[in-house]
Amino acid sequence: MDYDVLVLGGGLIGCAVAYELSKYSLNIALIEKDYDIVDDVALVNSAIIYDGIQCQSDIMGKLELMGNAIIKELSHKFNIPYKKQPILIVSQNEDEDTKLENMYNTSIKRGVCNISLLDGKCVYELEPNLNIKTNKVLYSQNTGVISPYELGIAYGEVAFDNGVAFKLEEKVESISKINKGFKVETNKNKFTCRMVINTTPEDYNIDGFKDVDCEVDGYLKYFVIDKGLKKYISNTIFSYDKDEFIYFYPTIKENYIVALKTKEDLNYEKCYKKINKFIPELRTEDIHAFYESFFYDNTIRIDDSLVDKGYIKVAGKNYAEVTMTPSIAKTICETVVSNLNCKLKSDFNDKRREIYKFRDMSNEERQKIISLDKRYGKIICLCNMVTEGEIIDSIRRPLGARTVEGIKRRTGAGAGSCRSSYCLNKIVSILARETNKNLTDIVKDSKKSKILLNRIKEFDEM
Ligand SMILES: Cc1cc2nc3c(=O)[nH]c(=O)nc-3n(C[C@H](O)[C@H](O)[C@H](O)COP(=O)(O)OP(=O)(O)OC[C@H]3O[C@@H](n4cnc5c(N)ncnc54)[C@H](O)[C@@H]3O)c2cc1C
Repeated sequence: MDYDVLVLGGGLIGCAVAYELSKYSLNIALIEKDYDIVDDVALVNSAIIYDGIQCQSDIMGKLELMGNAIIKELSHKFNIPYKKQPILIVSQNEDEDTKLENMYNTSIKRGVCNISLLDGKCVYELEPNLNIKTNKVLYSQNTGVISPYELGIAYGEVAFDNGVAFKLEEKVESISKINKGFKVETNKNKFTCRMVINTTPEDYNIDGFKDVDCEVDGYLKYFVIDKGLKKYISNTIFSYDKDEFIYFYPTIKENYIVALKTKEDLNYEKCYKKINKFIPELRTEDIHAFYESFFYDNTIRIDDSLVDKGYIKVAGKNYAEVTMTPSIAKTICETVVSNLNCKLKSDFNDKRREIYKFRDMSNEERQKIISLDKRYGKIICLCNMVTEGEIIDSIRRPLGARTVEGIKRRTGAGAGSCRSSYCLNKIVSILARETNKNLTDIVKDSKKSKILLNRIKEFDEM
């Protein structure tokens, strides 16, 4: 067999599974169709680390609660930003009051700590600027915000350093059962393995496996607000309504998100009107960007009905999947370990290579790093203060960036308010130089997203 385990899909869950399995003496590869890992995690993700209180299913509530605790540990271990940010869920009528009470009682029964059901008036002590009528408020101090793709990249880097082979730009086309395992065919290779962990949405028609289609549960509209409104609130505020709700919070990047979940697909003006009723201070000129996405509330299933044959599939999409990821990965890992009867590695290294972020350093630290490498003294992205040294590191690291989007996600270069109008050319030049490619071969994030289409022949000698 080429591999003990093949993980299909390099999204957040695939990378987390690869990381957990890399602790064991197994020969593992991960296959991802895109140029980069965690490329499908939306850049504008709510990025909330939930604690399961809004979850109706006990099992998913438990996965969220367990994931919540692990993510806090991981953010420390992998040196990725995590900000504690309590959630306030407010009820505004009798019907919602009863539902909120039920939510509280169920959560207490599930063993969730650090939550309180308060009288509506208390909300103004926690949030003096909130200008809405509230009957009751469910206050949870367990929640936070994170950068989901930074978590995925960290999982991937540590898995890579512990021997997982990452096969990027390889699309899985078919899987067939062979004696004691599977044959997986991609657009480039054929591999054999003892077990397949499928984290992609595809089902590949495996005999005896029944997949369930993901259902869309509504629409999510995001308003990204400039830093000016940051002082308005400090917690994450949810309105209580299952079909249509609003939530707003300061993000980890120091701007501010107002999100609206609706059943119907509403346009910008209609969304703005609804949000404006909730936050009258919100002016259109404060809105920096507007994004749209689907909202999913499917049950996440770790389907191991074919585990005796060596196949596990993660099925379903859910608004809290980032939060559940560490617990999903650990559960899958336990199943694989007991199935393949493998042992922990003695030389597993759980440390991520150091990252230096110029904008977070003191002047002393900056001087020290510049004296070691002058490229840390050359600012490329003025908005987010990202240096050439950081961009080069993001390319040279394990599973380094190969696209402009990959650099943005790893360093923040190009994600500022000028929308990369100042730094894009510089980033493209550095990427071409570091990867030994022509400028015209550099892409934003996929094959069809070239930044520069052609050379102008007059400038050929330049
Ligand atoms: C708008 C939005 C907001 C969200 N907000 C939150 C939040 O606040 N809190 C929270 O906890 N969760 C949140 N989530 C959920 C979470 O971000 C995602 O559900 C989660 O990242 C999905 O990870 P995944 O690995 O399952 O899937 P994906 O990221 O889709 O990964 C699947 C991977 O498989 C690859 N692939 C597909 N087909 C093939 C193939 N044939 N061969 C090889 N590779 C293939 C894809 O390229 C992809 O990289 C949000 C989701 C969305 C969309």
